[in-house]
This record gives sequence, structure tokens and C-alpha cells, in this order.
Amino acid sequence: MAATVLVVEDEKEIRELLRRYLERAGYAVATTASGAEAVRLLSERAVDLVLLDLGLPDVDGDEVLGEARERGGVPVVVLTARSTVEDRIRGLRLGADDYVTKPFSPTEVVLRVGAVLQRARGGAAGAVQVSSYGGGRLRVDEARHEVVLDGTGVELTPTEWGLLTALASVPGRVYSRYELVNRVRGYEFAGYERTIDSHVKNLRHKLGEAGPGVVVTVLGVGYRLGWARDP
Ligand code: CA
Repeated sequence: MAATVLVVEDEKEIRELLRRYLERAGYAVATTASGAEAVRLLSERAVDLVLLDLGLPDVDGDEVLGEARERGGVPVVVLTARSTVEDRIRGLRLGADDYVTKPFSPTEVVLRVGAVLQRARGGAAGAVQVSSYGGGRLRVDEARHEVVLDGTGVELTPTEWGLLTALASVPGRVYSRYELVNRVRGYEFAGYERTIDSHVKNLRHKLGEAGPGVVVTVLGVGYRLGWARDP
């Protein structure tokens, strides 16, 4: 079944352009110009991904993002008119999985939508694989797409999941931001490197007190998993 993408964008031309390209790529597309309507749609129908303009005339884009997060972590790709790092980080801090700066190429948007959806589906293609780290404190179940820390499930965004599983693939190995971008997104995009830090911050926050010990900063290089894989 085709994945459903909800496009939330008040500029009609952009909205229709995105609809055309997404439909051509085989997605089912719902559109709205209103943030309030988007929140309502999210509560009423199954949406696989939200393409969200942060500058909406009615409710703040942040609110729609929050709603998507509450709806079982529907992935969100943010469209932003401002290309400042602060603005991108703002979107990512709120849990967006990716962002696109206007003006964008619709082909690029479709590519990113595909990458985020693939990530969200997780290890569907992989074999059943459960690994534990740190003497059983952290358990990563690739098949179920589950992370359990000290017996409690941790809900991660697709990007956070990608980061954690990338670091966990070889515990202790240091990954540069550039490598992590590739691992998480499946393709290269240099501008994204600086925002990895923001995702790491979110991930650590979700891992609570253990967070900084699980994802260790290696100054000037990148990050590594601080806990060894259990035998
Ligand atoms: Ca707008």
C-alpha cells in the first residue's frame, strides 16, 4: 500500500507542486493550508509522514510537530523559509526528522521523504537482531524497532534511532558527524553535519541520566557508544 504523506503548507503553489511530485513518486497525498486542520487530520486518519511548513498563518508549526510526535511518532520533514542554523536546529529540537530550506527542488524533497520513511520502517529487511549493551542496561531490538533502557521502553524519532543504531553497530568506535549523517540519512549532505549535535542532545535527553554515558562526545572528532556490547 502506498504511504500517505500529509503536506501542510499555506502557499498554494508550493502545496500543489509537492502534491504533484509526491503523487508521481507513488505516494498517497493529503494536503492542507491550515495547521489546525493538520492537527485534526492527524487525529483522524493514518498518516505515514508529515511535510510541514513551519510558517503557518493559523497555528504555529511547532504545534503540528508536537501532535505528530504524540501520534506514535509520525515522521516529520520540516519546510523552512529561513536558512539560519538556529531555525533548522529549532525544528530538529522539536523532533523533526529532516528539513528542507526554501527554495527547494521538489525532487530533493521526494528523495528526503523516501529516506525518512525508509528509516522509520527500520530494520524491516534485516534479520531478527537483538543486542544488549552495558551489562544488559540497554537493549536494541532491530526487528521490533525497540530500545529499552533499564527495563523501560524509550521512544525515539527515526533520526535518533538511526543515530543510536549507527553508533551501536561497532561500540566504542568513533563516528564523525559526517559519517553519522551518511548512516542516518542514507546519502550525503554536508550542510546537515552541524545539526547532528542537536539530535544527539535529544537522544541523550531521552536516555536520561545514562544519556551522556551512552553517547560519548569525542572532542574534535564526533561520537561513540560508551557502553560495550554484551557477549
Ligand atoms: Ca508559510
